[in-house]
Amino acid sequence: MRYAVFSDVHANLEALQAVLDFFSGAHVNAYIFLGDIVGYGADPQACLSVLKTLRPLAVAGNHDWASVGRLDTDFFNAAARAAVAWTASRLTQDEHAFLADLELVKEGPDFYLVHGTLEAPERFDYMLDARRARRSFEMLDRRVCFVGHSHQPGVFIAHEGAIVYREAGEVDIEPEKRYIVNDGSVGQPRDGDPRACCCIYDDREGRLTFHRIPYDIKSAATKIRQAGLPPSRADRLFEGR
Ligand code: ZN
Repeated sequence: MRYAVFSDVHANLEALQAVLDFFSGAHVNAYIFLGDIVGYGADPQACLSVLKTLRPLAVAGNHDWASVGRLDTDFFNAAARAAVAWTASRLTQDEHAFLADLELVKEGPDFYLVHGTLEAPERFDYMLDARRARRSFEMLDRRVCFVGHSHQPGVFIAHEGAIVYREAGEVDIEPEKRYIVNDGSVGQPRDGDPRACCCIYDDREGRLTFHRIPYDIKSAATKIRQAGLPPSRADRLFEGR
């Protein structure tokens, strides 16, 4: 199978469409979505309706659950909280139900999906260092765990007790190793590259590839400002920070 892997769209329709255009030319068979379809951007409803048509294997992000009241926003910063309230006020009953029904962990033939960490998915912690990765590796009885949330694309690789970190690029998936893959962010990249980020996982070839896709940032940013959403979330799109 060739899986299209993406997450952290954050209601950025321009970025989502660019990524899906790329996937449609890349002969993928199935979609993996790692959470946060909404939050920050101006197109939550359009992004949700596109996501549903893909019938992805999907998990909940913190913004998805916060927008339907399944997660407290006490730990959100002011901009995130404002975006959650704005999003919540726009969702139809069906959209609300779709987000509320997303689960924290899903499994595939040789992988798990989770937005934060495998060890405590309900806490939505960031998988940022080897110490955190080690705890998830201890629970990982599959070859790969896909995560989102930090918007930092990269791969933790566990082999013979050691953990190494590889930045995005092309990674061979070898049978004797285990992998925690962060697929970066489609709609709010924060690693200094403003292009949308996504991955393709080919389990037959044993290869994972990261891709950066340019999109119409200006249009997405203008909509955020016009909607009255926190303008900081529009400005940072241009820098990918
Ligand atoms: Zn996110």
